[in-house]
Amino acid sequence: MSDGLESNNTASDEIVRNRYLDILHQFTLRQSSLIKLEDIVWNIAKTAIAELGFEDCVVYLLEDDGITLRQAAAHGPKNPVDREIYNQITIPVGKGIVGHVARTGEMQRIDDARLDPRYIEDDDFRLSELAVPISHQGRIIGVLDSEHHAANFFSSEDVRLFTTIASLASTRIETALAMERLEKTIHHLEQARSDLECQAEELREARQAAEAASVAKTHFLANMSHEIRTPMTAIVGFADLLSREDLDRQHQAQWRNQLNQNARYLQDLIGNVLDMSAVEVGEVSLNFEPVSLLETVAEAVDTLRARADTKKLRLETAAEGLLPDAIITDRVRFKEIIVNLVSNAVKYTEQGGVTVTLSTERRGTDVLLSLVVSDTGIGIDPVQLNNLFKPFNRVHDTHQMAGIEGTGLGLALSREIAKALNGDITVSSLRGTGSSFTLMLPAEVPPDTVWEAQPAVNPFLVRSPPIQSDVIVDRAQDLCDLRLLVCEDSVSITSLLEVVLEAAGAQVTFCANGSAGVRCFDEQVEEGRPPDLILMDMQMPIMDGYEATRYVKRLRQDIPVVALTAFALADDIDRCLAAGCDYYLTKPLQIHTFTQELRSILERFGA
Ligand code: ADP
Repeated sequence: MSDGLESNNTASDEIVRNRYLDILHQFTLRQSSLIKLEDIVWNIAKTAIAELGFEDCVVYLLEDDGITLRQAAAHGPKNPVDREIYNQITIPVGKGIVGHVARTGEMQRIDDARLDPRYIEDDDFRLSELAVPISHQGRIIGVLDSEHHAANFFSSEDVRLFTTIASLASTRIETALAMERLEKTIHHLEQARSDLECQAEELREARQAAEAASVAKTHFLANMSHEIRTPMTAIVGFADLLSREDLDRQHQAQWRNQLNQNARYLQDLIGNVLDMSAVEVGEVSLNFEPVSLLETVAEAVDTLRARADTKKLRLETAAEGLLPDAIITDRVRFKEIIVNLVSNAVKYTEQGGVTVTLSTERRGTDVLLSLVVSDTGIGIDPVQLNNLFKPFNRVHDTHQMAGIEGTGLGLALSREIAKALNGDITVSSLRGTGSSFTLMLPAEVPPDTVWEAQPAVNPFLVRSPPIQSDVIVDRAQDLCDLRLLVCEDSVSITSLLEVVLEAAGAQVTFCANGSAGVRCFDEQVEEGRPPDLILMDMQMPIMDGYEATRYVKRLRQDIPVVALTAFALADDIDRCLAAGCDYYLTKPLQIHTFTQELRSILERFGA
């Protein structure tokens, strides 16, 4: 009987052992294909432990801090669904039975938890507990823990089984942990690299912006130098002429007019620069009032009539449809925008003309005003259209810009003002054909406004009389009978030089650009009466002074070329000399010593 019983027990032990071995075998096989930590620990809990038939199991892993154990996977009541852990807790190393195993590395089998004060009740109170360490190369990395309601539940066989599972899984867990740490490190490194790239990009952008600002500032300073020195030459020169005795009334009036015009130009320029800085810090003060529409537009356009006239350009104004006699806006600012747009149209047009067309769209008690300034000028490259409104930006190359004065502020300022008046400026242009700038301005109209059809805004004409060259002001005759060729595009400076040089006895031929200058030079050389000296403005349209000087010097080294430059920076002077100029005089010219200076240059040159 007992034999039969024993052999029965042995047989059933054998079955259990075989089942355990089979489960361990399956477990080892499945584990070998798992890589991710999560898959590995859940495989321990859900497959191995669950299939062994234990009612509860938790896999604890040691956190990176080395002092906390977290519940990483579970089987039984702690795992109601999927891979979720119910009421997930952490246990400090050293606390409770699990904490004890983690600290000592010793397996713990508790047969009656009521007798063990270390027992921590988690989801339920159970009498038996088995906790084995998961260690790798002598270092504890986690604890495999199982509990059972019955006392004395876990057998020596179970201990061996748990220990085997823990030891089989430990290398895989450690590898997965190392992989996770590596991935985290890679992620941090990638994050750091992308942060560094962002910072590098920001630095690049900041450097580009700083470089662009520096280039814009240098351009601005060079332009301002030119812009200020050119009218200053005229102001100082005409003031000088006016201080002389024996002047007749006609010349007094003409020169005073020239002086006033240049002084006003300077005043406008300085006003523009100050306005721009006010706009940039958001300090444009506006004064909204009823403004007579046609009158204001006519006034603005007429300030440019003299300039258009000098360039033999048409300057036409037209009105379309019904227009209100007044709108509510800031009169000064409104006029300033129109002056800037028309001034540009005249500046950047050599042939044809400029048309200013006014039309409005009635919107209840308000009006949307549209003022289009179109010209037949040099036009603008489409890729540059976006840059037009950036401060200090002159979008044409220096060759096209030669002789065209400007600071690159007008459009930026105009658009800012238009926006402050709730409007905007848009542009369309065709290179070589012309440009069209449109000011769109919404405005209220005063209550008693009269709407009328207007065929055109009446222009009025201002023409300054030409200065006669037969007036002798300077009787020193420093340049008696010398032939001078003067290439200069500024009308004011030409007038001034004409008076001064001819008064000094010179025979002067004036050319308004380098191309006309070299043509004239060729003719004079061919006719056997080459100039004794050439005065060369460096910034001129069509062909600048540098190119014209190079041309002259290729043919005749013996004729002195004196640069007249309004750019007084060291680089500009070097450029003049490199082009072949023999001397340079910077504007404003000292009119009272000017002819003597030319005389001494000629003497030094051996003339
Ligand atoms: P600037 O003082 O140089 O005239 P603006 O701000 O008024 O400065 O204009 C910026 C640039 O836009 C000019 O330098 C010029 O290149 C271009 N531009 C402005 N108006 C015109 C126009 N009507 N035709 C062609 N180019 C123009």
